[in-house]
Amino acid sequence: MKPSTLRAVVVLLYAAFLLLPASCAPKESRFLALPPNPPLASEPQVSVLLEGSPEVMIPLGAKYTLTGENGAVLKSDTTPREAALGVDKGVITLGSMPLTSSKKVRLSANLPISVSGERVKASLLILPAADGFGVVITIPFEDYIAGVIEAELYKSWPLEVRKVQAIAARSFALVRMTRTPKSAQYQIRASELDQTFRFPAADSDSRKAADSTRGTILMYRGNILEALYCSSCGGKTAAAESVFETPPIAPLSSVSCLCASRWAEAKDLWRFEVEWPAFYKAALAESKDKPIPSPGRVELTRAPDGTVTAFIVKYPDGEITVSGKDLRERVGPRNLKSLWFDAVCREGKLTFIGRGFGHRVGLCQWGALEMAKSGEDYVSILAHYYPGAFPARLYK
Ligand SMILES: [Zn+2]
Repeated sequence: MKPSTLRAVVVLLYAAFLLLPASCAPKESRFLALPPNPPLASEPQVSVLLEGSPEVMIPLGAKYTLTGENGAVLKSDTTPREAALGVDKGVITLGSMPLTSSKKVRLSANLPISVSGERVKASLLILPAADGFGVVITIPFEDYIAGVIEAELYKSWPLEVRKVQAIAARSFALVRMTRTPKSAQYQIRASELDQTFRFPAADSDSRKAADSTRGTILMYRGNILEALYCSSCGGKTAAAESVFETPPIAPLSSVSCLCASRWAEAKDLWRFEVEWPAFYKAALAESKDKPIPSPGRVELTRAPDGTVTAFIVKYPDGEITVSGKDLRERVGPRNLKSLWFDAVCREGKLTFIGRGFGHRVGLCQWGALEMAKSGEDYVSILAHYYPGAFPARLYK
């Protein structure tokens, strides 16, 4: 399909959905959100939390103002030299000047402030954190989407995969934004907890992918789809209901994936080994005081998509069961890289051997790369990973 034809189709389909009465488009899943009403007239802004004390520089000669929570001006001055935000013994500093140790402050300047190497014109909200500070930037939504693509995909990956990522990321973020209360300090986190983010160069392919799909999101039955995605699904994506214990929803059902070739051999699988007592304490113990029993016989129940739904330890006089979802949270998602695994208990050690990274639901980035290499365009890649959902343009 030519881009111009596709554009016309998505605009028409979205217009048709806006005309549907609400009763025709029931919200039936936690992965759906009604589109903005009234419709967005133009590109929105998004406030993004950058954690881990990102680099913030105020340029030489800038007149800056620090404002406290109640709107009172705490300080207003001109920088005699370029000054960086830092932390000294738990106190946030600007250059050598202490700013705040516990309260959030707003920093604005008459010149663009540099955040992680990018000049940002808006004011910044600075949030003290246990290990430094976080910075909330408010930027145009399309700039944010280009930054998500830049952070999520390798530099060498082709434009077509970037377009897929653009639409998935936009859809995912918009659902998060519609759920964020207006009083919240930020709408989305620039980390794996939501979506990673890095400012792209102006002429980057990430920027081109955002521009060429501008405003386009994924719709399902009149709702915006929270288009979940993962790095690699292991060869078959997981259905949302297997991983999140939610009702089934067609666009987040299990589909086959070309990334299977990346997991074909035993050496490709991930492994995690843990001593039985440590595992028992982290994942199974109901109370700290009870003695740790010896390892029992481990059994797994799994969904057709491979997801372990229950981890069971059997003893002659009973059994201990923990759901797959709880198990991954307790053992740690970096240790248990997905819920598609086998578990072997031998000589006091438990070994997990698995495939796929993350929740495995929705788009698989490595699988999308394989599809793009075989000539599929971004519309058919999205149709494969989100069956029943389709792209629609939310704003021009
Ligand atoms: Zn995959």
